[in-house]
Amino acid sequence: RAKSAHSGEPCFYDSQMDDAIRERRELIADLRAALDTESFELHYQVQAALPSGEISGYEALVRWRHPTRGMVPPSEFIPLAEKSGDIVPISIWILRQACFEAALWPNRHPVAVNLSPIHLADPRLVDTVRSALEDSGLPPERLSLELTESAIIHDRRFALGQLKALKAMGIAIALDDFGVGYSSLDVLRSFPFDRIKLDSSFVAEIERDDQAVAILRSVAGLGLTLNIPVLAEGVEQPAQLSIVAREGCSAIQGYLIGKPSRTLAEPDRVRRTMSLKPCVVDDGAAVA
Ligand code: C2E
Ligand code: MG
Ligand code: MG
Ligand code: MG
Repeated sequence: RAKSAHSGEPCFYDSQMDDAIRERRELIADLRAALDTESFELHYQVQAALPSGEISGYEALVRWRHPTRGMVPPSEFIPLAEKSGDIVPISIWILRQACFEAALWPNRHPVAVNLSPIHLADPRLVDTVRSALEDSGLPPERLSLELTESAIIHDRRFALGQLKALKAMGIAIALDDFGVGYSSLDVLRSFPFDRIKLDSSFVAEIERDDQAVAILRSVAGLGLTLNIPVLAEGVEQPAQLSIVAREGCSAIQGYLIGKPSRTLAEPDRVRRTMSLKPCVVDDGAAVA
């Protein structure tokens, strides 16, 4: 922008960049206003245990109702808020909202909340979580936090201290998107995770790709050995469910049993979907 202003020449690339920068600035301004205008909402996606089909919890997934753009997905505005320095207040809202809503659920299932790496690095996080629980009345056993490996690679000692303090409160910690990050195995050894969530990209390929099945099997085995339950993310098809169950995963999440929604998935419906054909029999083989 500065260059073309100096030379007085119109420059295609610069004006295009101008647009991108302006749009980004606008979006950041809108993001800052969004908390005041109550434009965020949480949707909940069911998680269910294998092989019982019992609901094991619901993951809170944030949505932004933008005044003109409609629904902006978290994959667009969370990274933006992380870069613009606005993530912490948004993340605090998400945490508190999830606790207050879950405290009112007719069931006593846990709620899983995704935690930004930047919020994990905030020294006030433990106090924030404690007040969210106290103010909402949600017991700590009903809250779990989902973290990706990127949250712990920067300042490992500090991250470990935070996780230990949270766990000491009775909160569970899940390792999200496992398999698509950095030093997975080392991270598993040094951090007190209560659950591993295997990234959906592995599940997406298991019907066509033997390597994906082999990885799924290894991660499930690793979970068994380390005594950490493994949840498979992104299960969409009955055939994927039967493979995931056969290979020893402890739980699933995915469109097959429920999409993220304002209303909680019904236990009966989830159980019924999970016993769909091809059904899983005791020896682990799938019956077509
Ligand atoms: P994630 O935590 O791994 O969440 C799972 C994402 O996969 C969600 O996308 C969910 O809607 C989607 N998903 C679930 N089952 C299926 C399936 O069967 N098929 C397919 N194709 N997709 C499925 P969503 O809601 O768009 O969120 C994307 C990511 O944004 C999340 O990945 C998480 O990293 C981040 N995110 C979402 N909500 C929050 C939040 O409240 N706070 C933070 N910090 N991050 C969030
Ligand atoms: Mg998650
Ligand atoms: Mg994930
Ligand atoms: Mg993800």
